[in-house]
Amino acid sequence: MKYALVTGGSRGIGRAICIKLAEMGYPVLINYNSNIAAAKETKRIIEENGGKAELIPFDVADGQTADNIITQWQENNPDHHIAILVNNAGIRLDNTMVFMQNEEWHKVLDTTLNGFFYLTRRVLKDMLVKRWGRVINIASLSGIKGMAGQTNYSAAKAALIGSSKALAIEVASRKVTVNVVAPGFIESDMTKDLPQDELKKLVPVGRFGKADEVADLVAFLASDKSAYITGEVISINGGLHT
Ligand code: NAP
Repeated sequence: MKYALVTGGSRGIGRAICIKLAEMGYPVLINYNSNIAAAKETKRIIEENGGKAELIPFDVADGQTADNIITQWQENNPDHHIAILVNNAGIRLDNTMVFMQNEEWHKVLDTTLNGFFYLTRRVLKDMLVKRWGRVINIASLSGIKGMAGQTNYSAAKAALIGSSKALAIEVASRKVTVNVVAPGFIESDMTKDLPQDELKKLVPVGRFGKADEVADLVAFLASDKSAYITGEVISINGGLHT
């Protein structure tokens, strides 16, 4: 059976993606870092709707642990494989560059960029062997446009876009697609400290987006209908382009 693995599936956009993929009939592996209560709530919602879900906690920035946990899962599930990988886990540690600490720089890149590399390299093998797969990476408007106070975050998301395009070419002949979703302002814990009333005036649609709206796009990219789309970056930002 084909499974979907969503990193950062405990909250926000990741939770909405888990729920949507479960509605499509995929059993979902819900990854998270530390918020077990939120991850259990995602699982509960999926199961309440008749879906299947498992919790698979690890820090995506820790490549060795990620590798060990995926290997363990594969040994325990020899008849199943991960066919859909959504690299959604991400953090913001904003600061202007002159004040940015090494830790703020490295933590953001480790989570978004290195996390994508460690996990995708590991999970891709099964997709290539089975000759079908979907890798969907959650970048950001910040990785396309660049945002002040986010040199770390913009760097991580821009690199994620570049790497996704290269990987898409490497694996296309095996029917594995690699695409990027680049959200603008979406309501979630990540944006709850932002002045929404001020910022929404910048958005042509006049509001922040919903996690569900991002999840619908991810669900399409995860489906068979998107087979001819790969190496693409799809913005979902209410018209707030560069
Ligand atoms: P969020 O509400 O802050 O949730 C972040 C999720 O990532 C949580 O599930 C968290 O797990 C997980 N996570 C963080 N670090 C992790 C790590 N090292 N290992 C595993 N999981 C980790 O964020 P969100 O707004 O839903 O954002 C989801 C993605 O969309 C991120 O990549 C973000 O950069 C991107 N994005 C968001 C917006 C926006 O406006 N919200 C816009 C553009 C792009 P725990 O619950 O365990 O902490």
